[in-house]
Formats: sequence, structure tokens, C-alpha cells
Amino acid sequence: MARFDYDLFVIGAGSGGVRAARIAAGFGAKVAIAEEHRIGGTCVIRGCIPKKLFVQASHYAADFEDAVGFGWQQIKPEFSWKTLVANKDKEIDRLNGLYIQTLQKATVQIFECRAVLKDAHTLELADGKTLTAETILIATGGHPYLPDLPGIEHAISSSEAFYLVDFPKRVVISGAGYIAVEFAGIFNGLGADVTVAYRRDKVLRGFDEDVRDHLTRHMAQDGIKFRFETVISSIEKVSGGLEVTYDNGDVELADQVMFATGRVPNTDGLGLSEAGVQLAANGAVIVDDYSRSNLDSIFAVGDVTDRIQLTPVAIREGHAFALTQYGDVPVSPEHDNVPSAVFSNPPIGSVGLTESAAREKYQNIDVYKSEFRPLKHTLSGRDERSLTKLLVEADSDRVVGAHMIGPDAPEIIQGIAIAVKKGLTKTDFDATLAIHPSSAEEFVLMREKS
Ligand code: NDP
Repeated sequence: MARFDYDLFVIGAGSGGVRAARIAAGFGAKVAIAEEHRIGGTCVIRGCIPKKLFVQASHYAADFEDAVGFGWQQIKPEFSWKTLVANKDKEIDRLNGLYIQTLQKATVQIFECRAVLKDAHTLELADGKTLTAETILIATGGHPYLPDLPGIEHAISSSEAFYLVDFPKRVVISGAGYIAVEFAGIFNGLGADVTVAYRRDKVLRGFDEDVRDHLTRHMAQDGIKFRFETVISSIEKVSGGLEVTYDNGDVELADQVMFATGRVPNTDGLGLSEAGVQLAANGAVIVDDYSRSNLDSIFAVGDVTDRIQLTPVAIREGHAFALTQYGDVPVSPEHDNVPSAVFSNPPIGSVGLTESAAREKYQNIDVYKSEFRPLKHTLSGRDERSLTKLLVEADSDRVVGAHMIGPDAPEIIQGIAIAVKKGLTKTDFDATLAIHPSSAEEFVLMREKS
């Protein structure tokens, strides 16, 4: 008789958990997975996917305007928030179904309920049933962090923003990270008056300074109002909406107040500390290079480990875990040169070091920059410029960072990321022929150091 009910029990059916479960089952492991919300997790249900669909919806307003310069006349469309939300919901239902099918096909047993740890090998399900597993993988993700301030119960996070019944005409967003700038672009593009309140002086701390400046400028040009070096101190429900009071005493009325102030790991009440698993101060599971916690039988992948909060990273961590444990191929998920995109307006693609990080790490850094007007806007008349930037370690000629802000930047940087990851040199970039006319060609045409 087997010592345990399962070889592997995964808590959390998001991107990392599902990948780990499927790959482990493929190697013949007996696998179960528990999910208390919906199979698919943050990215599929209330993150990347619905966000990108909303971003696409928000671009049409500018596209209709731009079309006039190309001869399209009398375009007067009306936007329906309800249609967008309903169509998005349909797509999310479809993806949720596909994720369930994937798990079923892989013969992973699904428990659609909460599971908590009783000890290093035992789990308790919501109905009180206990199960045992040789290995337990924590893949419970994270949830939005909202600061504790008077009236915070009236605020929403990105999770609720996807399901608003009515489109908010006036939106105040707190924070200026990924989610804040993406939703500022979404609401603004769809016709809302948007204010971004941020405790520092420009958006997207951690990104390359030129990119930050460029986005801050463009967002302001698009009509987004910034309140820098300001935070919300209270929110009050009044007859005209929500009254937002700032720490400088200013007051503003809004229909929705959204906090995009970071995400924290989902470990509360999971029984981890009680079972002896070491957690960081913010609740993240502390893991080694192979995603193993301090207990031999307990592993963790994805946002719950707070390494890099990105879906492809969670998937890679889940895959590497399954290969290592069940495929006998020790794989440590790499966290270097992870490309990322921000679906702001305009969007950003980025891989490798920022200019300041590159200067800190290396003695001689050459900077190549190009700012240009995308061809489309010569006819559309829109005052929107793109920026491409390469950082080259002068002694080795290696490209150590590539950044772009402008239409299609995420699509373009995905390809550039291969070159940066492979350690290609500026000479390799220069030797590559351009695709003309494109914005991507700037990456192989920049010759002047700035
Ligand atoms: P971020 O960490 O990107 O940004 C959080 C923002 O909130 C920062 O501007 C931060 O300021 C501010 N902030 C934090 N705490 C407070 C506070 N107490 N009061 C006021 N402001 C505060 O988190 P997000 O919530 O935007 O996103 C969470 C994660 O999800 C991201 O880190 C990202 O990895 C991932 N994500 C990725 C996306 C993508 O790949 N396109 C899209 C969306 C999310 P400060 O800069 O001063 O710390």
C-alpha cells in the first residue's frame, strides 16, 4: 500500500501550480490540485488576460481618431462597458474550461475548494476531509495590498475593476507601478477622467529613467492628471460619489478609487508556519534555487514566493520543480534577463539592466538611444513618439539592456530578449539587417552613442 494518498498535492491552480501538476503527472506521479477560487488563477481570471483585453478595448478611441488622417470619415462609435465586460467574462469562462480540461487530460485530480496544511505531509480540505501527500507544492499566488486608511472599504483593487457594473467617469488611482499605469491607460482610453496619486515623482520606479520620463510625459499629454509626492489619506462616501482627501489637504470627487499598491503572498491561514515552514516578513515562502522550502516535502512557486511576480516566471518555476522532482533532471529556474512588458499607453518592453543598474554593475557603459515618430503618426497627426534604448558593456561589447516604449514594444522586445539572453554584442546587432519600415529596426540601426 502507498504511504501517501498522492505523490504530489498542489495548493493553488494558477499558472505555476497548473504547470507543475501537469508536468509531474506526465512523469507518472499521482497528483491532486486544490483551488478555492477559479481554476486558472490571477493571470487568467483577474490579471494579465482580462487586463490585456481591456487595454485593447481602450486603444480603439485613439485608433478611431487616427483613422481620420487616413481618409476614414464620420466615425462616431459609442462605447458599451457592459458589452466589454460580458465578452471578457465569456472569454475568461472559456479559458477556465480549457485549464480544467488540461488538468483532467493529465489525470490530475481537482478539488475545487480550499486546502490547508496540517503537517508536512497532511492537508485538510474545506469539508474537513484529510489527505496525505509525499510532496506538497504551495502555489497560492498573491492578493492586492491596500493600505489601512479611513474609508479604504470604499476602494477597489484591480480584482474588482474587472467586474464593475457601471463604467466610472472619474477614477482616482493610488500607486504608479505596473497595475496603476495600465489601468490609468485603460480608464482614460475608455473615456474616464483619471487621476494618479503617487508618493514619489514619476511612474514605474525600477524601470529605466528615460522610459519612466517618457511614459510620465505621455500619460500627462493624454489627459491623465498626476498628483506626485501625494498619498490618499481618507475616502468618504458622499452624495456625489467618493470624496478623496489627500495628505496635502486637497479634496477630489471620484466614482471609483482604485489602489494598485502592490501584491502580497497568499499564505495567511494556510497552516505553513504551524507546520514549520519558514516565511519572510511579508508572508512569502522562503525557497532555495529549486523552489524547496526549509522542509524537505514542501515546495513553493510563483507569486507566493515573491521572487519575480510575473506569470511566465511562475510557469518556469513550476515546470523546473516538476522536472527536478519527477523527471530526474535538476533544473533551477533562472531569474536573470527576465523580459517584461507594461501594457501602459504607450506600452513598454524591457529586458536586462536599466542604465543606472548597468552603470552600477560595469565600469564602461555605452548608451544608444533613438527617439522617433512612428510612421503611422505622420498621417494620423498624433503627437506620440517612441523611444528605443540599448545599453552596451563597452569592454565586452555585450548588450546588457534593451528598452522600448512605443506601439508594439512588448512584441518587439520578446525577440530582442533572445539576443540579450544569449549575450550577443552590439556588433551582432549592427550586423543584422533592418526590417523597413518598422519601429523594431531602430534596434539594429542605432550607431551614435548618446
Ligand atoms: P508594483 O509593485 O508594480 O507597484 C506598487 C505601487 O504602489 C508603487 O508605485 C508603490 O510605490 C506604491 N505603493 C506601495 N505601497 C504603498 C503605500 N502604502 N502607499 C502608497 N503607495 C504605495 O505593484 P502592482 O500592484 O502595480 O503590481 C503587482 C505586481 O504584479 C507587479 O510587481 C508585477 O510584477 C505584477 N504585474 C505585472 C504586469 C505585467 O507584467 N504587465 C501587470 C500587472 C502586474 P513605490 O514605487 O514608492 O514603492
